[in-house]
Amino acid sequence: MIHQVPFVLNLTISEYRRLVNLKPWNRKWNNPDVLDIKAKIKTQLTYNQECCAHCGLPFKGSKGKQIEHIAPNANYRQPQFTFTLHNLVLSCGYCNDLIVKGTKPTIELPEHRFYSRCNFLIVHPYFDDPDDYYDWTDNNDRILIQIKNNEEKAKYSIEMFGLDSEEMSGWRAAFSLLNIQNDLKPISSDDEELVQQTLEYKK
Ligand SMILES: [Zn+2]
Repeated sequence: MIHQVPFVLNLTISEYRRLVNLKPWNRKWNNPDVLDIKAKIKTQLTYNQECCAHCGLPFKGSKGKQIEHIAPNANYRQPQFTFTLHNLVLSCGYCNDLIVKGTKPTIELPEHRFYSRCNFLIVHPYFDDPDDYYDWTDNNDRILIQIKNNEEKAKYSIEMFGLDSEEMSGWRAAFSLLNIQNDLKPISSDDEELVQQTLEYKK
């Protein structure tokens, strides 16, 4: 249902150098000097990921797919991780835009200066295997998420991304029914319509 994301981002040494050598006030992805690197990263992530890193649902069209900073550079700010490649993943608009994502930290504060040694509060898309944290129950027209081994990270992620919401449980079941989740093709508009019809039929 939710899968660990394989890490595939790969920059050249000169690209790394360009990022590292940016002045602190220029360390932003909208800096024109690094837009080519940003585009390269987006291509690599898009090629690698067909489903949202947090909720596991397939992206719905191009608008539903966003590059996300796992440790955000807004609100609970970890701007030092803006260019950390393990901090960049694709998530759906719902998980990335959710108000709670900006109001609660994803890293235990104060954070370690090295990203990989931070204590993450959520199930990390690259470092953690969701199979260690979640169980699934098929409840007719809903696939319900359950916490494995009373894992705190699972509780935190479920609350943060609303993984136990009616809507998400329904979508999960609908996509599973259509066997889209394991199919690496992008969702066609026909598939989306079918999912919508399935959901409406079940109401
Ligand atoms: Zn999502």
